[in-house]
Amino acid sequence: QAKQAGKNTVRVFHANMSATLQTKVDLENDLHDSILHDRIELHYQPRFNANGSICSVEALARMRSRTGELIPPAQFIPIAEETGLIIPMGEQVMRKACKWLKDTNKKLKNPISVSVNVSGIQLLDGKLCGTVEKVLKLTGLPAKLLELELTETVLMQNQETVLHDLNRLHELGVSLSIDDFGTGYSSLATLHRMPVQSIKLDRSFVSNLPNKTDSVILSRTVLAMAQALGLGVVAEGVETAEQRDFLIESGVLELQGFGLARPMTADDSRQFVWAQQITSDKAKKILA
Ligand code: C2E
Ligand code: MG
Ligand code: MG
Ligand code: MG
Repeated sequence: QAKQAGKNTVRVFHANMSATLQTKVDLENDLHDSILHDRIELHYQPRFNANGSICSVEALARMRSRTGELIPPAQFIPIAEETGLIIPMGEQVMRKACKWLKDTNKKLKNPISVSVNVSGIQLLDGKLCGTVEKVLKLTGLPAKLLELELTETVLMQNQETVLHDLNRLHELGVSLSIDDFGTGYSSLATLHRMPVQSIKLDRSFVSNLPNKTDSVILSRTVLAMAQALGLGVVAEGVETAEQRDFLIESGVLELQGFGLARPMTADDSRQFVWAQQITSDKAKKILA
């Protein structure tokens, strides 16, 4: 009987495997088509400074499946990385984000910036800098309004070529930040060598604030380290007013999270940004 069960288990396992594999193949085909037909969609999540104004937005990629559902990046970014499709996808994301910002800023008195997530694969490819230059030229967006979010993993490999490319990007005037900071293994020495201007404190530190002592100590330590290195800090995953208040009191200057604003479609986020700046202008007039 045990043998019987064992056999069944094996069969079920195979069935699952091929279903998974099929899903993956479908996803890969959809991804390929989406990129080819310029159909990667971007949602934008506003980022706020401590006085509640929007200072920036983060571009977040979405893919539409053949059946019309919106697929989150956790599902297709790993495939894009495995297949190398992340390179053309990354260029498309950058172009769309810069174009969106250029158009959005036309109606804003205080221009905001946009941040774009960059995979380690794009950085190791060696063509990122050329792509950025090309996109900035094409869209006419000033370099200082573009920020690239990098992951700790690629920085830790400590490759001279990567450092060289980051320095070139920095010289172009693009800002560089480290995403999900605290989840990787950045050493102080490596951080110090990198032309990075800010870190994004990972959501895992923020989610237990301000009630869990460990999180309080950890987040304060990361903040102290960032300050010592002269880096700006953006807190991600801010969901509650208590978290927001704690972070602002701890010296965090910029915040992002569902509690402040969720990622929205390109149109909705543009309206949101426009309405917000008009409101704060109005508020200033009323207060004046
Ligand atoms: P990330 O760069 O750390 O982006 C933040 C993610 O956290 C987004 O998920 C966002 O929707 C989510 N988030 C924001 N605020 C909150 C909050 O208060 N609570 C919770 N629970 N979540 C929050 P999303 O859009 O699913 O993106 C997931 C990840 O996929 C991103 O994490 C980024 O690493 C990657 N990604 C997204 N777009 C791109 C892209 O164009 N290129 C690359 N290479 N990676 C991308
Ligand atoms: Mg990010
Ligand atoms: Mg992040
Ligand atoms: Mg994160």
